[in-house]
Amino acid sequence: MDENLNEMISDLKSYLEYLKGMGIHSLLSSGREVDKPSPSPMMTLAEIQKELGDCKKCKLHRARKTIVFGEGNEKAKLMFIGEGPGYDEDVQGRPFVGRAGQLLTKIIQSINLPREEVYITNIIKCRPPQNRNPEPDEIQSCHPFLMKQIRAIQPKIICALGTFSAQTLLKTDTKITALRGKFYDLDEIKVIPTYHPAFLLRNPERKREVWEDMKKIAEWLNSNERTKEME
Ligand code: URA
Repeated sequence: MDENLNEMISDLKSYLEYLKGMGIHSLLSSGREVDKPSPSPMMTLAEIQKELGDCKKCKLHRARKTIVFGEGNEKAKLMFIGEGPGYDEDVQGRPFVGRAGQLLTKIIQSINLPREEVYITNIIKCRPPQNRNPEPDEIQSCHPFLMKQIRAIQPKIICALGTFSAQTLLKTDTKITALRGKFYDLDEIKVIPTYHPAFLLRNPERKREVWEDMKKIAEWLNSNERTKEME
């Protein structure tokens, strides 16, 4: 019973943190309506990382070696969001540096972008034991930080890598096979889900679909740039 209550309180805390990250600081206005989201002041990536500190908001802190915050261009037009750190990322403190990461680097370069020009992070910042799937409370604990990162970078497009990233960002439980290759709106930002590079390592015959998704991203970025030049 006590354990259930503790779990409920911890879930509620994570949910309130999530709302805070979304810019919702109060649930009730003078009447009984729910307040409209008011964007909280924008933070720099350094400030967000400082706020994250030695985060212990979820159980993943117990086994992690490092918090993998993210890396890349603070002003990136294109942002990649994966699932969570694996063994190599946990050791090095950098996202996508293992085998899947090497493939992601090639995927980025396939549209003539150097890896340093984009920003790369994950839905969760700490490695789950044995690389198991992230659990809902872990995703929720990390979500405010992810939203702040997105707000700081203000990318034009987010490429969501794999099921957890796509489903979390789009708040859906639709399968990645149905979501991939289409553009969705997250406020002003386009989100395009594609397969996770680790999935491609196991299913290389699906690389063609990712290549098609990357071409869509490149075309969107090119036409967006052209429109801006004409303005
Ligand atoms: N897989 C991910 O989702 N993220 C990483 O950083 C590495 C592997």
